Order: sequence, then structure tokens, then C-alpha cells
Amino acid sequence: MELQHFADEWGPEKVIETYDSKIGMKGILVIDNTALGPGKGGIRMAPWVDVFEVFKLARTMTWKCALAELPFGGAKSGIIADPSKISKEKKLEIVRAFSRSLKPVCPSMYVAAPDMATGEVEMEAFAKENGSMQACTGKPKEMGGIPHELGSTGFGVYNSALVAAEHIGLKINGASVAVQGFGNVGSFVSKFITEKGAKLVCVSDSDGCIYNEDGLDFEKLNQIKNETGSVKNYKPGKILNNERLFELKLDILIPAAIPDVITNKNVDKVKSKIIVEGANIPIAPEVERIVYKKNILVVPDFVANAGGVISSYVEYIGGNEKDMFKIVEDKIRRNTKIVLDRAEEKKMSPREAAMEIAKERIKNAMK
Ligand code: NAD
Repeated sequence: MELQHFADEWGPEKVIETYDSKIGMKGILVIDNTALGPGKGGIRMAPWVDVFEVFKLARTMTWKCALAELPFGGAKSGIIADPSKISKEKKLEIVRAFSRSLKPVCPSMYVAAPDMATGEVEMEAFAKENGSMQACTGKPKEMGGIPHELGSTGFGVYNSALVAAEHIGLKINGASVAVQGFGNVGSFVSKFITEKGAKLVCVSDSDGCIYNEDGLDFEKLNQIKNETGSVKNYKPGKILNNERLFELKLDILIPAAIPDVITNKNVDKVKSKIIVEGANIPIAPEVERIVYKKNILVVPDFVANAGGVISSYVEYIGGNEKDMFKIVEDKIRRNTKIVLDRAEEKKMSPREAAMEIAKERIKNAMK
């Protein structure tokens, strides 16, 4: 795919392809837009990764960082390699070579992070090779990293849900909630929302779905998941087909697992008052419009699930765990409210409102 097929008024500013013949490292960096600050985005390692995929992910980061009101632009990088076919040592060697090759633009114009097949071990290698701790986020705790296991994204999704509930005058205490997925995002959002008094009636994971109209106890659910591998073994409860979760009469529905879960096929059956998108693209844009027309309040993914990137920002500025929770809460609440208010005022969908706000912020910085 040639640059002219996707370049527009927003970017990309730089598309860099790097190659180290000695190590066998082939890498790509797309810095989409730096009007608000250095481009932020993870390093994806996969055999299929190409410039167009990296560009699309970089563009998503441009909007996400702008909407989260972070002093970051959007970027993303990729290393073309199959992580299942190389040793851990070779993987680190490749990451170090990639880091060396990006030194002219990192951290001045690009701040890396983990993505598919890269984690804190790779970030440690990347930052050390670069020489600056600001070269990437997602570093180990000993290097100032803020661990993913604190649940920043789930905490943000939870805060977004609170604001959405307030927006339609729904009391969170006793509100019925279902969460698809019980991984990093789904388990933390379940934890925080039940602590606030909501009634978690249904949860699913890749192995099954459990329902109890009187509510599921989070601690017990978490224990069952850890001990048996699936939430479906929780008792008392009724095991449902995974798709049934989307058809329940609910106050709040939180997809927090995989893309495209509400589609043309099941959108008519969705009965929740609010949907907060914890996962990325759980509803394709054209289906999201149908949901909007059904008068269901949808908080779009890049508004609700920005807790992770906000946590990265806190790591970048040298903050700690306490700062992270405070900043995620403040930013997610504020931005969810701004988006929902604008959507109502201008009679547009929350996604349209969110895009408009993100673009305004970038345009103002580009002046
Ligand atoms: P994870 O791998 O920790 O958990 C995924 C969960 O989804 C698991 O419980 C898995 O069993 C479940 N799942 C998979 N297929 C399912 C199915 N068909 N039905 C029901 N459950 C199913 O992943 P995560 O980090 O929690 O991420 C979840 C989603 O949120 C992804 O779309 C991810 O891109 C998005 N997201 C995550 C973060 C983050 O910081 N973790 C940030 C932004 C967006």
C-alpha cells in the first residue's frame, strides 16, 4: 500500500522502515501526528505486520491520546518476525536492534509501549538500549513501570460507566450489569462496579457464560475463575450460551473481550440501556449507528478504554500507582462527560461527538 492511499491532513508525519541485516531485524515505525506531543504507541511483533496495519493502529492512537487529553500524539511500530519461531534471546536481540535504529526519533518523536508479543521484558531491553527511560512505557516495576495488573483500563471503563449512568439518571446502586470477558479489563471492571453497589448478573469468558439475576459475588467469581479456569463454574447460577449475554434486559452491558460481538445478526435483541465499550471495536461503526438509533447510550471504545494509555502517561512522567488511579479517574470521567454532553446537545452519536472533540484538540495544537 502506497503512502498516497492513506495520507491525509492528519498524517502520517513519518513512515520509517528499518533493517539490520546482521541481526535480521525488519521493523516499521509510523508516526502519525505529533501536534500534541511525541507519538505514543506499542510495538507489535508479528510475521504479517505491514505499513498499512501499523498506520491504522497509529491513527487510532492519534484520536485516543487527543481525546484522553494527553500530551501525546499517535504512533505505532511493528517488527516483522514470528515470535513463536524464535528464541527469547533472539527476540530481545531483535528488539535491541530495533531500539538502536529508532534512536534518532525516540523518545523525541516516538514513545514505545508493549503490544502483541511484546511485554515488560522487551520494554526493559528497548529502554536500556535507547538510554532513556522515556523511550517506552510498560517497563518492569523496578524501572518505574506501572504494572498492567493494577487494572488501569478496567478502572477507566468503570468510571466511564458511572458517568454514563449519571447521564441518563440511572442509580448505580442495584443497577444490573453484564460483562463479556473476564481477563484484564473485564475482571477489573467487574470488581470496581460491584464494589460500588451494582448487581453483576452475567459474566462470560471464552469457556462459557454464567447468569444469576440476584447477582454474582465478585470475590467468589474471581476465585472460581482462578481455580477452575472459567467463570461458568460459579454456583449458584445458570449456564447460558455466550451470545445470550447480549440479549439480557440490563441497565449496563460491557463488552470487554473481542471485536464484533454486536452485529447485524443480534443488534435487534440488545436490550441494555447503556453499553460501555471496554474492548476495541466490539461493535462495527455501521452497527453502532443502529444501536444509537435504538436509543441505547453507547460510550465508544476509545473514550471508555483509554485507562491503559493514561496509565502509560503517568509512568512516562514518573508518577506512581496512586497518581495513576487519580489521573485515570479524572480524565476518563471528564472526557466521558464532555462526549456525552456534546452528543446530546448536537444530537449526534457519542462516537461522532468524540471524533469531533479529538479533531478540534489536534487542530488547535496544529495552528
Ligand atoms: P485478556 O486476554 O486479558 O482477556 C480477554 C477475556 O476475554 C478472557 O477472559 C477471555 O476468556 C475472554 N473471551 C475471549 N473470547 C471470548 C468470547 N467469545 N466470549 C466471551 N469471552 C471471551 O484481554 P484484555 O486485556 O482484558 O482485553 C480485552 C479487550 O479490551 C480487547 O479487545 C483489548 O484490545 C481491549 N483493550 C485492552 C486494554 C488493556 O489495557 N488490557 C486496553 C484497551 C483495550
